[in-house]
Amino acid sequence: MKKTHLFWQLFPSYWVLTIISILAVAIYAFHSTSILYFQTQENDLSTRARLIAQQVRTTSNPDLDSLCKEMGKITDTRFTIILPDGTVAGDSTENPPSMENHAERPEVHQALLGETGTDRRYSHTLKQKMMYVAVPLRDENQQITHIIRAALPTTAIQGELSKMTTRVVDAALLAGVLALMVCIVVVRRITNPLHGMARAARQFADGNFDHNIPTYPAVELDELSDSLNIMSAQLHHLETVRADFVANVSHELKTPITSIQGFVETLLSDDWDHDPDTQRFLEIINQQSSRLNAIIDDLLTLSRLEQKEGQVLKEPCLLESVLSNAVNLCQLQAGKKNINITIDCPENLTLPLNAPLLEQAVVNLIINAIKYSDPDKQVWVIAQQQNNQLSLSVKDEGFGIDRKHLDRLFERFYRVDTARSRKLGGTGLGLSIVKHIAQVHNATVHVESSLGTGSIFTITLPVDA
Ligand code: ADP
Repeated sequence: MKKTHLFWQLFPSYWVLTIISILAVAIYAFHSTSILYFQTQENDLSTRARLIAQQVRTTSNPDLDSLCKEMGKITDTRFTIILPDGTVAGDSTENPPSMENHAERPEVHQALLGETGTDRRYSHTLKQKMMYVAVPLRDENQQITHIIRAALPTTAIQGELSKMTTRVVDAALLAGVLALMVCIVVVRRITNPLHGMARAARQFADGNFDHNIPTYPAVELDELSDSLNIMSAQLHHLETVRADFVANVSHELKTPITSIQGFVETLLSDDWDHDPDTQRFLEIINQQSSRLNAIIDDLLTLSRLEQKEGQVLKEPCLLESVLSNAVNLCQLQAGKKNINITIDCPENLTLPLNAPLLEQAVVNLIINAIKYSDPDKQVWVIAQQQNNQLSLSVKDEGFGIDRKHLDRLFERFYRVDTARSRKLGGTGLGLSIVKHIAQVHNATVHVESSLGTGSIFTITLPVDA
């Protein structure tokens, strides 16, 4: 599933929701106002029509046209007087005989049915959109005698409405931008603490417990940060207990195993003459106690490295001599398999290092390169300086490691092939020690390998450290 930031999940919905609300309010306000405007004009027209009703009653039909023209001029309104059969008897702007029958005009039709008729349409006579209101005029017998129609152009209203549209659009845009900013701030207030806590949790996972997550105003976030802080404290405690336990156990085992080994070696010396079975058993005891001794030594080394994290003594050392010391320590093992080790290192390169530790890391890597290669192969120890980094690589032409193991290779006791590692005298702790030594130098270690071709283990050191 494609992952998106919480920000992009929350922010668009918040914002779209706000925009929809703004639009809904704007459209509603616009609609109500336009209805109100038209209603007002309608009422106004109907009043105007009723105002001249009395005069229409007292005027004879032939004089109605001039009444319309006169009243039209005074009130700026177009008046039309229509007889019940639809013929136009008078009009403020036109000559009635030339006008067609008006019975079917919607507003007139309505008025003929006895109600106030209204309509809005484009007038071809006046070439603009008009609003018409027609009211029926009755005699004492309630018979409709005339229809009085008043009309005004709707341009004024339309002008007002279009001005209002501009204002509403402007306000909506402004509100939209404001909403955008508010949404960003609100969503950030949720996502920023989460980012911070995720970062802190990752630090806890890396064993760095110095960091404390701050408190947040939101209760839920505060609960989460509290829980993480408690978890960090507990992890820290557990980590200390574990490290102390491993250190104590290793210490306690060291004395008895040294003494067992001492006695077995004595029993195996030439002063004794054992029968073949006893001799074989003693040799097995010797072999197994050596293994146990090696594991305990490695565990003690790891414990010491853990306690020293970040505070080992570093002195300027000639890199070349550290590497050649390491290679010399491995020559015996290399010679047994007829493996040749080559050093490629810049001359006179001096760095602040803990020489014994770095030497041990390189030895571990070279010993592995020898162990996990066939005889007559080649091993290279290569140092290269690039910008402010120094990379120390140990390269072999050995068996290689399947990609699926690479992630876990530096864990304690992780072995690709347990039987082979044991047979070759491995403790499963060598690479773990290399990783810890890299860490106390603020360095990282990584591996590239392919089955059947060989492996390269590289320690990358920051040079200015
Ligand atoms: P071990 O004591 O078993 O060698 P390490 O921690 O040194 O323990 O190495 C862990 C595992 O990584 C080894 O068991 C081996 O399978 C694998 N390994 C280490 N270095 C190499 C190498 N140069 N070539 C192939 N496999 C290696």
